[in-house]
Amino acid sequence: MPEAPKTSAENGHFVVDEKNKKILQFIEEVTTNADEVQQKVLAEILAQNAHVEYLQRHGLNGHTDRETFKKVMPAITYEDIQSDITRIANGDKSQILCSQPISEFLTSSGTSGGERKLMPTIEEELARRSQLYSLLMPVMSQFVPELEKGKGMYFLFIKSETKTPGGLPARPVLTSYYKSPHFKNRSPDPYTNYTSPNETILCSDSYQSMYSQMLCGLCQNKEVLRVGAVFASGFIRAIRFLEKHWPFLCHDIRAGTINNQITDPSVREAVMKILKPDPKLADFVEAECSKDSWQGIITRLWSNTKYIDVIVTGTMSQYIPTLDYYSNGLPLVCTMYASSECYFGVNLNPLCKPSEVAYTLIPTMGYFEFLPVHRNNGVTSSISMPKSLNEKEQQELVDLVDVKIGQEYELIVTTYAGLYRYRVGDVLRVAGFKNNAPQFNFICRKNVVLSIDSDKTDEVELQNAVKNAVTHLMPFDAHVTEYTSYADTTTIPGHYVLFWELNVNGSTPVPPSVFEDCCLTIEESLNSVYRQGRASDKSIGPLEIKTVESGTFDKLMDYAINLGASINQYKTPRCVKFAPIVELLNSRVVSNYFSPKCPKWVPGLKQWNNMN
Ligand code: AMP
Repeated sequence: MPEAPKTSAENGHFVVDEKNKKILQFIEEVTTNADEVQQKVLAEILAQNAHVEYLQRHGLNGHTDRETFKKVMPAITYEDIQSDITRIANGDKSQILCSQPISEFLTSSGTSGGERKLMPTIEEELARRSQLYSLLMPVMSQFVPELEKGKGMYFLFIKSETKTPGGLPARPVLTSYYKSPHFKNRSPDPYTNYTSPNETILCSDSYQSMYSQMLCGLCQNKEVLRVGAVFASGFIRAIRFLEKHWPFLCHDIRAGTINNQITDPSVREAVMKILKPDPKLADFVEAECSKDSWQGIITRLWSNTKYIDVIVTGTMSQYIPTLDYYSNGLPLVCTMYASSECYFGVNLNPLCKPSEVAYTLIPTMGYFEFLPVHRNNGVTSSISMPKSLNEKEQQELVDLVDVKIGQEYELIVTTYAGLYRYRVGDVLRVAGFKNNAPQFNFICRKNVVLSIDSDKTDEVELQNAVKNAVTHLMPFDAHVTEYTSYADTTTIPGHYVLFWELNVNGSTPVPPSVFEDCCLTIEESLNSVYRQGRASDKSIGPLEIKTVESGTFDKLMDYAINLGASINQYKTPRCVKFAPIVELLNSRVVSNYFSPKCPKWVPGLKQWNNMN
């Protein structure tokens, strides 16, 4: 099987063109031979893991061929392997899912029972992730030349991590990657030359990390050719941070010192290697930041920037207008598609419009299958993912090279780390092919109704949260007759808004503090990724309840029916996105209330914390 060329410098010299050519050649090869590569990947995974308990339990009996695999192994969701995962997390070292030792768990932003899912991983997966990263810049360099001549200003962060009861680390995939030698000890490469020193990225205090990365980015502003973060929400948070803190940053640039709030000695030392007193630059930054309008601030402060590297596909598309405003319409580049389960693919046409982004799945990353999705009027038919596929659906699963243009599919993955026919939960649409490998538009995450950052709230979670909150209204004989929700990204950070229509029978009006209690109860009831975003990462703002005039939801129905919805089948949408509908709701708001404090959140799964 072809391997991506290594990224290290050869003979001390970095031959950019030569290396890029090799990597592009690798992409040609694996996409041309996509089916053969997939077959080999599956055979390799099954051979390596022939004796693991999970495959034996299902009677695979050491077979490594596609046909037997497809006949014998079920497509599964997290719940199907949760008891296996719990055993591993509790310290069972036997070969349950994978013959290689599980090195850590990656905590997915997808949840199960309100807690993050734990994805098993093995040491060698780090190399596979590095391999996918190594494809990005050679692809990019075909469209934007000479990027090796400057730096990337990327705001990258680690998040808190914990240990399972059995002692394995449990942390998000990017935290794992940034802390690994693959990132920390990367060999000199002009494409991974970032303005942020490693120490600033690896600082666990998010304020110090952001402050020091912004300071270093400003100090090296002329060298910056591209800027970015992982998700659009993170990049916008960085700009917001600058809006709040530029006077301190300018003071530091002028004096060549670092604010006392930055106490981490390794961060201070790393920043001091870059920082020099520069009154001229401080004057310039101050002049730009004190202007009334922040339109185009990115191009003003980092004038050589060619593009913004952030994911704006999926729910992140809600941030496109804000990014356009801050950057005066610089290209928004979505380079890759990945998850805790597996890294999937890259965008081979990175300068395309966000709405046209298509990811080419790289056939060496894992074994991919696809379940056709049938949608009704643009809405997936069921609100919750069925627990298991029936036999007919199971037979409908198709291989990577057999998907059809225009058709939508749910992605199913088999990984080297011990997931077999695992339903990732993403819906993709085939946009075209690169040789024999399909390219997919990211359509949505199944069932997710609300998302601001990496949080993913589904309709059932929202429903339960509202159910818990409305108990506060009972003493006032008040009831929520209808509700819907909206992810408001006009505030930074964005926040969840719930529109409530009430029926109040009691004579005492409901005091504002009771609605605030409702806001907090909803937040306390949402999953741990949401609560972490609120309480620890501060990437989500306080939840808001807006009460609306009575009759508002009838108007909403009239509107939908005018647009062609059937009266018989009309159901109040539990989340709205379409601007005229949001406007309609906002025009009938009577009062609004915010959550008065952050919901509770502690690292690690609830059940582990109860053990202590
Ligand atoms: P996590 O497992 O927490 O890393 O989240 C992975 C999920 O994030 C994927 O399954 C997708 O739903 C979403 N995601 C990752 N990359 C992209 C992308 N390029 N565009 C849209 N959604 C993405």
